[in-house]
Amino acid sequence: MNNAKLIIVSAPSGCGKGTILEEVFKNSNAYYSISCTTRKPREGEIDGKNYYFVTKERFEEMVKNNELLEYATFVENSYGTPAKPVDDAIAEGRDVILEIETVGAMNVKKARPESVSIFILPPSVRELDRRLHKRATEDEEVIKDRVAQAAGEIAKSADYDYVIMNDALEDAVRDFELVVSSVKANDNRADKFKAENMKEIIEEVLKNA
Ligand code: ADP
Ligand code: 5GP
Repeated sequence: MNNAKLIIVSAPSGCGKGTILEEVFKNSNAYYSISCTTRKPREGEIDGKNYYFVTKERFEEMVKNNELLEYATFVENSYGTPAKPVDDAIAEGRDVILEIETVGAMNVKKARPESVSIFILPPSVRELDRRLHKRATEDEEVIKDRVAQAAGEIAKSADYDYVIMNDALEDAVRDFELVVSSVKANDNRADKFKAENMKEIIEEVLKNA
């Protein structure tokens, strides 16, 4: 039987989801869904690897042609998941990881209820701000916009299936891998990371926002 899973991953910008997934992909043959975006590439980002960087016109065309599984706007840019590569990978029996923001995540969950959603929490919004400054890929104004979005996104974490925290990186990678492995085995090893069991931790992070 094809046990391939569609795994949705969200986290506030700068939380470390890219860093965690880079580690996870060292030991996984899952398909990493490459999104389309109208955002400009950051230094070092490669078209066709990190994203397909497209014009607004091309993006609108993809929406019109129903080529996207979901799409959303984030800090003035459009982002969307091409549907065909996702469906092809699942049909081949490969897990698929979608690294997308909260609106798109909820739309995928609605369209594909069998998917699994994982939210990655930062230890605090202040730490998020520190990480974005350390990464230094955006200017001050964009960092401010991204941090301003964070509390609203964290509040939505309760709607995900699982919630983990990226405090120490090794722990977050281990917890993420445990959730995926438990979901695939359909057992209860990751129950402590179910959103309903993470309520107090989510509240704590929001209180410290
Ligand atoms: P995202 O993909 O969620 O926007 P990144 O993976 O780019 O975030 O991480 C943002 C910054 O935070 C990077 O500079 C990264 O090295 C750093 N970072 C990631 N995880 C941790 C962690 N657990 N502790 C401290 N810094 C981290
Ligand atoms: P960034 O500009 O930092 O690469 O991404 C900004 C936000 O857009 C992140 O939360 C990222 O997960 C999200 N994102 C990336 N690709 C997609 C996508 O295809 N769809 C949606 N809905 N969000 C995306």
